[in-house]
Amino acid sequence: MEKYLIFKSVLMVVVLVLAFGYFFTKVKRLYQIMMAVDGSPKPFVDRLQERIKVLFTDIFLQTSVRRKPLPGLAHTLIFFGFLAIQPHSIELMVKGVFPVFDIGNIFPGLYTAYLSAADILAFFVLVGFAYALYRRLIIQPDYLTLGRDANLIILFTCIIIVSFHFVNAFQQMMIPLEPGSFSYAGVFPVSGILASIFGLGALSGKGLFIGYEIFYYIHISTILGFLIYIPGSKHLHLLAAVPNVFFKRLDFEKSIKKTDIEDEEAETFGLGRVSEFNWKNVLNLYACTECGRCEELCPASGTGKPLSPKKIIHDLKVELLNQSGLLLNNHKDEIHPIMGDGSCVTDDVLWACTTCRSCEDICPVSNEHLNFIFEMRKHQVLMEASFPPEMQETFNNMENQSNPWGFASDSRALWCKDMEVPVMAEKTKADVLWFVGCAGSFDDRGKKISRATARVLQKAGIDFAILGPEESCNGDMARRAGNEYLAQMMIRQNVATFARYQFDLILTGCPHCYNTIKNEYPDFGADYKVVHTSGYFDTLIKEGRLDIRSNDFGTLTFHDSCYLGRWNNIYEPSRNILEKTCAGSLVEMDRTRNKGFCCGAGGARMFMEENIGERINNKRAQQVVESGAETVASACPFCATMLNDGIMETNNDIKVMDIAEILDKATS
Ligand code: SF4
Ligand code: SF4
Repeated sequence: MEKYLIFKSVLMVVVLVLAFGYFFTKVKRLYQIMMAVDGSPKPFVDRLQERIKVLFTDIFLQTSVRRKPLPGLAHTLIFFGFLAIQPHSIELMVKGVFPVFDIGNIFPGLYTAYLSAADILAFFVLVGFAYALYRRLIIQPDYLTLGRDANLIILFTCIIIVSFHFVNAFQQMMIPLEPGSFSYAGVFPVSGILASIFGLGALSGKGLFIGYEIFYYIHISTILGFLIYIPGSKHLHLLAAVPNVFFKRLDFEKSIKKTDIEDEEAETFGLGRVSEFNWKNVLNLYACTECGRCEELCPASGTGKPLSPKKIIHDLKVELLNQSGLLLNNHKDEIHPIMGDGSCVTDDVLWACTTCRSCEDICPVSNEHLNFIFEMRKHQVLMEASFPPEMQETFNNMENQSNPWGFASDSRALWCKDMEVPVMAEKTKADVLWFVGCAGSFDDRGKKISRATARVLQKAGIDFAILGPEESCNGDMARRAGNEYLAQMMIRQNVATFARYQFDLILTGCPHCYNTIKNEYPDFGADYKVVHTSGYFDTLIKEGRLDIRSNDFGTLTFHDSCYLGRWNNIYEPSRNILEKTCAGSLVEMDRTRNKGFCCGAGGARMFMEENIGERINNKRAQQVVESGAETVASACPFCATMLNDGIMETNNDIKVMDIAEILDKATS
């Protein structure tokens, strides 16, 4: 026995050194790749308290994972079970090297409680895996990767847990090897049952010892095999998810950060090669679990486009690892581009994104897909002059007439020529500067919404004024289409115009104007109070400044705009207005609030062809029809136009109304 224990000690030392040595070599290489890329955002170590809180809720409490109830519950069981068995498994490894090591004799009470809890939680890992298998083999959702990697991981982990229970079962039945050492009798509730089922009590001391040793080796070798496998598999997220969540941009929902386009030393803009990533981009790629939640909610993926946010992340990771040799050996010039035909991100993928932010919102490890998409678009536009051909005219229109349609900029206020709408150039001072936006000024559907908005403001007696011909496009569309030069040109024009007048707040009826002016203009020195009409009207109603008489629009549903909802977390004001003004009932669509389905117009998609797959607005219109609503309300002129077009395709007479139009009709 003594000789065997010495042999086991030596064997364990060799195996542990080899396994951990290999593991740390792999992890070191991954870290070196992360540090070898050129882009360098500042480490986000600000707001420490908030970051710790996010870590606690997202990782420890598994809040983001559990947004999908059943898979989330299964993941939570697996997560806690795996965490729970680690101390005991590590203890078993130490015991393999130092047979006399016995932690049970140091803290017997605590140790017994821990072992019992770990034994129960380990069993729940198997319950979680049973559901995972059912999902993979029976449900088989399209967005799940059902490859060899995932199956191997399930196999690994099931062996780890089953062998853990058998080790416990044998341990429980064995008389302590040394007199006076900790007794495992009755400590393992689940493994104890296993011992009875398999009649382990009938085995001799030698039989128990052999059985224990066999399962010990199975358990430890599978854990070490898993350890070696992690860095090269999708389970790299076990290492990367925690730092990825901790370092996430807490204010991401608010803005695209300004690029210094006047930086004379900048050799390139955006992301064109893996070497141009920053360390946070790389961490994102490592952290992806390939759960497919982003793909499941993506309106582009859901309508047959080649874009899948999951695939972008996966393909960029593969590309990064494939080219890591060049990166680490400083042959960056030889690294080939990530975009373009034959590359990992094709044009059809890159330009299909509506920037709806569903992918980021649902991602359990807080990946920032849009950061990749915006930066890749920026690279294509600024460095390669490559973008969908129809965008050339849109860019020209914005540059020459400050609006994407190309209407004469001095006709911006024609929509209200027969209304008494004051203009800032004449007033110079007003309580409210109403930024009407391009859609509200030029698009036929948008103009009706603007007229309704003006009437509501007048009924409430608001001191407001518009900019008229002095207004430029807010810059959102150019920015999200990668044309940072053009975006900054228009932003600066508006900022200079704002500075000429006195006002208390900027009101917008367009969520894109709202988001950009509120969250991106401060980078250009314009830090104003900005309010969307939904919030403003909701307040006017609450203050009793509007004479509401309820109106009958039939059964209503509300379509959330991505840029109010997921980008700015504003969901309730429009619903409050509808509840106050509508006699009919309000029904929610299945895809609502933060799971709302995009109308298809964002990210400059409004001005691009949609030739592949089903039209996104048609799919949303179909969801409206399925809700049984007679009227669909929205709070964005782009959404209204897209929904109108989509509803027409369904041959239904469902009305599409902006909340301003509803409020206008419901007030006297
Ligand atoms: S990016 Fe996030 S949501 Fe998408 S597959 Fe990876 S972990 Fe899942
Ligand atoms: S932002 Fe929306 S459209 Fe773009 S990849 Fe994410 S989910 Fe898809």
